[in-house]
Amino acid sequence: MRITMVGAGYVGLVSGACFADFGHEVVCVDKDPARVEALRAGEIPIFEPGLEEIVATNAQAGRLSFSTDLAGAVPGADAVFIAVGTPSRRGDGFADLSYVYGAAREIAAALEGYTVVVTKSTVPVGTGDEVDRIIREERPQAEFSVVSNPEFLREGAAIEDFKRPDRILIGAEDERGARLVAELYRPLYLNAAPVLTTGRRTAELTKYAANAFLALKITFINEIADLCEQVGADVQDVARGIGLDNRIGRKFLHAGPGYGGSCFPKDTLALARTAQNHGSPLRLVETVVAVNEQRRTTMARKILAACGGSVRGKRIAILGLTFKPNTDDMREAPALAIIRALQDAGAAIQAFDPEGMENARALLDDVEYAKDAYACAQGAEALVLMTEWDSFRALDLRRIKAAMAGNVVVDLRNVYRPQDMARHGFAYTGVGRAG
Ligand code: NAD
Repeated sequence: MRITMVGAGYVGLVSGACFADFGHEVVCVDKDPARVEALRAGEIPIFEPGLEEIVATNAQAGRLSFSTDLAGAVPGADAVFIAVGTPSRRGDGFADLSYVYGAAREIAAALEGYTVVVTKSTVPVGTGDEVDRIIREERPQAEFSVVSNPEFLREGAAIEDFKRPDRILIGAEDERGARLVAELYRPLYLNAAPVLTTGRRTAELTKYAANAFLALKITFINEIADLCEQVGADVQDVARGIGLDNRIGRKFLHAGPGYGGSCFPKDTLALARTAQNHGSPLRLVETVVAVNEQRRTTMARKILAACGGSVRGKRIAILGLTFKPNTDDMREAPALAIIRALQDAGAAIQAFDPEGMENARALLDDVEYAKDAYACAQGAEALVLMTEWDSFRALDLRRIKAAMAGNVVVDLRNVYRPQDMARHGFAYTGVGRAG
């Protein structure tokens, strides 16, 4: 089948490349000419493991192409996916839908023959209705369906997630649209991916409910971690103790600096706003947003306390900048707020991240970037492990210790064992762990 993917970012590019890998003919359209030019030259504008290979193979096979010309890519497509950004709107935190509606208008103008317009972007309940209305207003005679197909992939494991999803969610108001989208995913049925077909509004809400629930799980264990520190308990054992209960599950129970990234912060906020607007406030979600926001300050204070109450004039090494490993995405990374707070308190920051430094440069001032973890530790009074990249899991601790000027280590991901760190002469602080 022929697919046009509008937006070639983390979601659009991965989805487009994977659909091409299933055998569909895919055009990825992006309005950023530099991005399209790079993709045409075989350069991948984002870091996502395995993406470069799958893009190259499918581009060579002629199934995947890139364009800035949306009007030229829509006619003849069976499905046009909208995979553009839905960031937080300045001021009120509601999802900014201007990119989605802008794309819908452009698509409407170019429609030829029956086409399914699919929102893959995360959009608030009712957005599909509005997309439908926009297209009908622009092109009253056009034959189309508007279907919601939210994306659940995780950055860093996006290809695996797209190809082996826990479920495929199709929200439609008519049979024809639902059937066509299900057909696009048919190659996945061999992997026994369950297809859940619902109404469009239900699908839209399900995506937000999923993200809010995961954010809540993270925030819950973070608050339990704080309590552990006060009562001399160990949050990792608590997490294991509750996570082995199938009703709870083990995932998303890792205490740390709070959730970040391009989805959870904006999606929890947007869901809370949607609920308020409908007179049905989600007080749990509102609290999750507030607690997570506060956590960055708490983490900066934790670092301050580990440094004896002041970081003024001290060099602090930050290992890891991205909100999680295996991505270069710096959007809403906890590192941003924590580093700014440390700088405000007078610290000099030196940092290293395997993939995130280029994006971080645009967002942070006065940070010295190092070429690796050891260079980053050089001359530092304290070292903060911010993101649990695999390459930070087995550092040569003797080398780190020798490079540092001080011996303070704050491990915000509980990667290391307190007793090992003590043995190496570090003054070690984890999250939610006694001692
Ligand atoms: P992104 O910012 O990486 O990519 C969006 C792309 O769309 C950009 O390259 C931009 O230039 C392009 N664009 C915007 N308007 C356009 C238009 N009219 N025509 C053509 N191109 C246009 O965003 P993303 O991270 O891929 O997220 C996209 C959506 O998917 C969001 O709603 C997000 O919430 C959702 N989502 C993201 C993830 C994730 O892990 N990143 C996971 C699931 C869902």
